[in-house]
Amino acid sequence: MSRYLIAVLAGDGIGPEVMREALGTLTLVGKMFSHSFNTEKALAGGEAIDKVGKPLPEETLTLCKEAAAILFGAVGGPQWDDLPPGKRPEQALLRLRSEFALFINLRPIKIYKSLLPVSPLKEKVIREGVDILIVRELTGGIYFGRPRGITSLPNGTIKAVNTLFYTEKEIERIARAAFNFSLDRTCKLTSVDKANVLESSQLWREVVKRVSKDYPQVKLNHLYIDNCAMQLIRDPHQFDVIVIGNIFGDILSDEASMLTGSIGMLASASLGKGRIGLFEPVHGSAPDIAGKNKANPVGMIMSVSLMLRYGLGLVEEARAVEKAVERVLEKGYRTDDLKQRGKKLVGTREMGQLVRKELRDEG
Ligand code: NAD
Repeated sequence: MSRYLIAVLAGDGIGPEVMREALGTLTLVGKMFSHSFNTEKALAGGEAIDKVGKPLPEETLTLCKEAAAILFGAVGGPQWDDLPPGKRPEQALLRLRSEFALFINLRPIKIYKSLLPVSPLKEKVIREGVDILIVRELTGGIYFGRPRGITSLPNGTIKAVNTLFYTEKEIERIARAAFNFSLDRTCKLTSVDKANVLESSQLWREVVKRVSKDYPQVKLNHLYIDNCAMQLIRDPHQFDVIVIGNIFGDILSDEASMLTGSIGMLASASLGKGRIGLFEPVHGSAPDIAGKNKANPVGMIMSVSLMLRYGLGLVEEARAVEKAVERVLEKGYRTDDLKQRGKKLVGTREMGQLVRKELRDEG
């Protein structure tokens, strides 16, 4: 029996609600495939600030260092909104990303056939569905660049600064990761930048072109971010793998998530060179629906699937989770965010139970 220690950081808002369903799924996968997943919970985000004064306590970091993978819920909420940027709940995530050098962020954007009517795009645009993999650079760019801060000029005017830079090395490693993912898919890669305006994007484009010489099988094209944002809505089928910098990727992946009908459906994986990865839903802590049994747990459950596939190399187990989710949706069960006339409305807990039932029935 293989054993894995999983660090579980459920966080705030709907984080603990969706995490409960994800852990139920993981336990069942363990039983079905004879693995022992030892899940250990630790504080992160707003709850950690309230209890111990910091968003990522040392004990949490120690646990993560020992673990095979990190499962992360969501952090933040209005009660912590007035804290300065460096002390806010989101710091927990930023610190984990930089601590483990998690520079690759994978966001699969897949529309399930049964959810086609829920997509805000017209049927003639969305056709039989969309399957895109966004590969976002996660530890560089403007979110980390220095100098940063708010200062006063000698004449009293207040000035705010953030810095966007990328090094060749940072671009090359994310580009290689994206080309490698392309090889496993349809060998089509779109690199997104703003090379008509930004020097950091000019370097991005140059390095991606250079790396492409090592991947002659992959068809590469380049798009400006503003055009890409538009093309994603106009004709999402033209995309397979997209490689993109940190801030552009943050925005574009939220836009892409809406193609699927709800941000509650999507999962992400953050990977680095090391063995440890962090797996979390794309959504935030959704304070507006927290504690109401309304949150869609699918994004968190699919994060378990990404953890199994990319974090632990358990591909068959990952597929079983994906299939179970797909079958629940095919049977017409929907959480509130995917409400559809004629379909059965279920809460967070029931959705989790249904996925587990399908998983059991498959096994
Ligand atoms: P959000 O993703 O939390 O919510 C946006 C909208 O989507 C809300 O209407 C919410 O109800 C809905 N939604 C989100 N997840 C859902 C789910 N699983 N099921 C059904 N509906 C869902 O984004 P926001 O409102 O901008 O941010 C709320 C808080 O979350 C903020 O404090 C923000 O800083 C934080 N945040 C955290 C993360 C993270 O932990 N990775 C990411 C984004 C935002």
